[in-house]
Amino acid sequence: MKSEGLLLVISGPAGAGKGTVVKELMKDENMRLSISATTRAPRGQEQNGVEYYFLSKEEFEKMIADNGFYEYAQYVGNYYGSPKKPVEQWLGEGRDVILEIEVQGCKSVKAQTPECISIFIKPPSLEILEKRLRGRGTESEEVIAKRMARAAEELPLADDYDYVVVNDDLDRCVGELRDIIAKLRDEK
Ligand code: 5GP
Repeated sequence: MKSEGLLLVISGPAGAGKGTVVKELMKDENMRLSISATTRAPRGQEQNGVEYYFLSKEEFEKMIADNGFYEYAQYVGNYYGSPKKPVEQWLGEGRDVILEIEVQGCKSVKAQTPECISIFIKPPSLEILEKRLRGRGTESEEVIAKRMARAAEELPLADDYDYVVVNDDLDRCVGELRDIIAKLRDEK
């Protein structure tokens, strides 16, 4: 019998380097990444259907009403959600699935799928986080300030996660995550 894949929920403040870490984990051929829907505007070179599905508030709310999300939450004034269908399909096929989502979304996934594995990616410090956010050069001062405030709220919540990994060095951080995933697969 084919067993379901691992559901990995990865959180961490914006600027902690989650995106880069996840890109590395996606080099594993059994791994799938859920593309979220959001009502925020595309940033930089982001394309619809690649980084996110960019929806209007009305479209997003219709998808909520149609029970189309595995989870959704509001973050700094916008909706973000994980479309349900691909996640369920991949897990059923035995793929491992990554949801790269914020802390409220993680809580609701834990509530409905207690066997999910939650991983919090921490920046080495708030100072480094701010430097990384500014370095992107894609957000206004106001948005950076809001994201920093949110990061300060989110960091203490790392304690609620199954694993906390510090992104001090990309290769080291990815290596630690690969070891965790290999161990979890063995245990399945
Ligand atoms: P950003 O606007 O920087 O792309 O994302 C902002 C925050 O929303 C990040 O913490 C990211 O992990 C989170 N996020 C992205 N997609 C989803 C989602 O589908 N659901 C939830 N709950 N959070 C998400």
